Amino acid sequence: MEANKAVFLDRDGVINQDDGYVYKINDFIFLDGVFDACRIFQNLGFKLVIVTNQSGVARGFYTEDDVLTLHDWVKTQFRQEGVNIDKAYFCPHHNEQGLGIYKLSCNCRKPEPGMLLQAKSELSLDMSQSIMIGDKVSDVQVGNNAGVGKTVYITQDSTKAKNEIAADYYCQSLLAFAEALKSSTTS
Ligand SMILES: [Mg+2]
Ligand SMILES: [Zn+2]
Repeated sequence: MEANKAVFLDRDGVINQDDGYVYKINDFIFLDGVFDACRIFQNLGFKLVIVTNQSGVARGFYTEDDVLTLHDWVKTQFRQEGVNIDKAYFCPHHNEQGLGIYKLSCNCRKPEPGMLLQAKSELSLDMSQSIMIGDKVSDVQVGNNAGVGKTVYITQDSTKAKNEIAADYYCQSLLAFAEALKSSTTS
């Protein structure tokens, strides 16, 4: 049975301020409204899954353990706000800039769908009922590549974004989308 549905969340630029290669807890700044938005998704019956490219691992800026430690902390912050993050996946690879074992054309670096398909299998997701939310073209592409029902482009410049790629929604913040989704499903 594939009875579950998920909101797939890009991390940097959607959940937290994207300052480039964030890996320290002290540098992780939650964006306004993220907890409220995720409570809405949760109340609408969605599982919550973080999917993030972390080529900083491949480039040798930080380690997989650093990412795991940060994500444990992030999940704890959400839990204290009443939100359960079901899974947090990251891709540590880069096909050109990667060092050693991390130099790889993998199937998990967005827009490749590997992380989303792993979540589909681990959480028994109905992808057609699921939503991918990100702030880059590759986030919209990965939603399409993984067969999710809706794609959301978080952007301050929807005119520019619309020229880059066709998404189902263009919103200025996670909370703006969550409120729009709530009113469209409860009205
Ligand atoms: Mg991003
Ligand atoms: Zn990868």
